Amino acid sequence: MVTLVPELTMELTNLFNWLKQPRRITLLTHVRPDGDAIGSALAMKMYLEKKGHTANVIAPDDFPDFLDWMPGSKQVYIHQRNRKTCFAILTQSDAIFFLDFNAIKRIEALGEDVMKLTRPYVSVMIDHHREPDNFTDYRLWNDHASSTAELVYTFMEMAGDIHLLDQDMAACIYAGIALDTGIFQYSNTTAHVHAIAGKLMEYGIKVDRIHNDLYNQYGENRIRFIGYLLSQKLQIIPAYRAAYMSITMAEAEQYKLSIGDKEGIVNLPLAMKDIDIAVLFTEDKGKVKMSLRSKGDVNVEILARNFFNGGGHMNASGGSSKQSLEDTIKTFEEVLPKFYAMPEANTNQ
Ligand code: 5GP
Ligand code: MN
Repeated sequence: MVTLVPELTMELTNLFNWLKQPRRITLLTHVRPDGDAIGSALAMKMYLEKKGHTANVIAPDDFPDFLDWMPGSKQVYIHQRNRKTCFAILTQSDAIFFLDFNAIKRIEALGEDVMKLTRPYVSVMIDHHREPDNFTDYRLWNDHASSTAELVYTFMEMAGDIHLLDQDMAACIYAGIALDTGIFQYSNTTAHVHAIAGKLMEYGIKVDRIHNDLYNQYGENRIRFIGYLLSQKLQIIPAYRAAYMSITMAEAEQYKLSIGDKEGIVNLPLAMKDIDIAVLFTEDKGKVKMSLRSKGDVNVEILARNFFNGGGHMNASGGSSKQSLEDTIKTFEEVLPKFYAMPEANTNQ
């Protein structure tokens, strides 16, 4: 069972006391928010509102359509499209919660607005990514937690408020956990995770429906695009048990890909028995976004952090490069031997 650092628990008691008065609270997620980020933020919003607070969610940019079913998703403010309103909300905040990320740079332009705030506010990080920056008053952080959604559940439990859970909150938390554990298959799937999922099911959530809403939402374009990528773009580097694919801006346009259409594609090469690392390079304006995944003891967080200005988890990380797509791929091929020479590259060494 995951246990939390005792001092943090003590500190959080002060936060729980502060939250006995109604407060105006803003919940922020990381850029390109995923289901754990949005699910955590929406569950937290519902919980805080039940406690008598005013709560708003701001995401830096759009989230995938397959999260639209989440209760409250329509009320999420998108900073990139509504910067003025978002700034007005921020300036009126008594507290800001940072959910599913642990460095201000992970919210890009939204972070610049947060830095401009002159009125004091209480700051809280709830996160499970490695190597957190120290920029908040409070944190509920544990890199052994499966997901931020699991930590939102823990937050409510520690506050003595688990009785406030309802079906809508349970669905958002369940979805966050399901997505970040690859539907209960990755090594972050602990007995504790299953116990929480079991408790959430007692609130009447329909797991088959949640799975259908999350995973069976492909358009024809996406399924054909995956076929194209796997047949035409997959590259294998057998010596390093690595596979990669890339998506150019022209391909994204040709196949009319929306944000959610790229989700999960990076994992596909890991189904090969001789592959331990899979990378997806996505060309964007002025940069290349990278998704990195690994199996077993191979630590792609080290690869993302040391060579691609990123981070995340041991088996699932992200990063970016300002080089062209071609040069980024070249750099990747060049740094692979350097990465494997690092003692931290393989946690079993
Ligand atoms: P994805 O590949 O799905 O975008 O991200 C995989 C994991 O790495 C997620 O937990 C995500 O939050 C994290 N991540 C993605 N991009 C970055 C990045 O640029 N920097 C850091 N520190 N983490 C990232
Ligand atoms: Mn997460």
